[in-house]
Amino acid sequence: MQGMIFVIQRASLHDGPGIRTTVFLKGCPLRCQWCHNPESWSFEPEVFYNHDGTTKLVGKLVSVEEVMAEVLADRAYYASSGGGATLSGGEPLAQSAFTLALLKECKAQGLHTCVETCGHAAPERFQAVLPYVDLFLYDYKATGPDHRRYTGVSQELILANLDALYKAGAKIILRCPLVPGINDSSEHLRAIARLEREYPELLAIEIMAYHNLGNDKAKRLRRKPALPGIANPPQSTVQAWLDVLAELGCRKVRIG
Ligand code: SF4
Repeated sequence: MQGMIFVIQRASLHDGPGIRTTVFLKGCPLRCQWCHNPESWSFEPEVFYNHDGTTKLVGKLVSVEEVMAEVLADRAYYASSGGGATLSGGEPLAQSAFTLALLKECKAQGLHTCVETCGHAAPERFQAVLPYVDLFLYDYKATGPDHRRYTGVSQELILANLDALYKAGAKIILRCPLVPGINDSSEHLRAIARLEREYPELLAIEIMAYHNLGNDKAKRLRRKPALPGIANPPQSTVQAWLDVLAELGCRKVRIG
């Protein structure tokens, strides 16, 4: 069993609890305008142009055993910090057989597992991985027609998968990327508050403030950045989002 990844990041502190190793898989069905991992979109290796004029190939085919050797190297840190392994991307369920094999192996080794997902995959794929996932980091990106406008796909399947996972008892943290002037509409913030009311057992709702790191990466992939003029939001903007969500009754919101 092999899969296409673009990086394995050790000692990650932002992809679930504790110290983790995050495996970033290539291939994504979405095209979020604010994506900070555009090198994940293609299922194939891609040429990345460095600033010094050299190039490197992003993406390599690896076996489950190769990934696990790297994941297990930090096992002692997981034990002491409550960490584990996270599968991210891209969309991990876009390579569902490889993702399932990795998750099974992680659980066989007694590791805590997270899957970071955009939610856009066939429901059967979620059902298959569910027994092997301790925590889903589940994106909620935009509301209504804005979802297709900013990500390239509608949100019906994503909402249906969220509903099915929640009702099956999955542990879920909702992750909401917010980009000033793009997807921080009052309608979207109200929808986030509605989800907290509808799904009271969500562990948390994390606000992921926009970071324009993806623009440079897009240029280095010889693509045009989708949001070239948007600056990273100042703390005052982030606080304003938090204030609105608090006024709407949200109690589980935190900065991601
Ligand atoms: S789902 Fe994630 S990886 Fe895919 S385009 Fe959106 S931000 Fe990028």
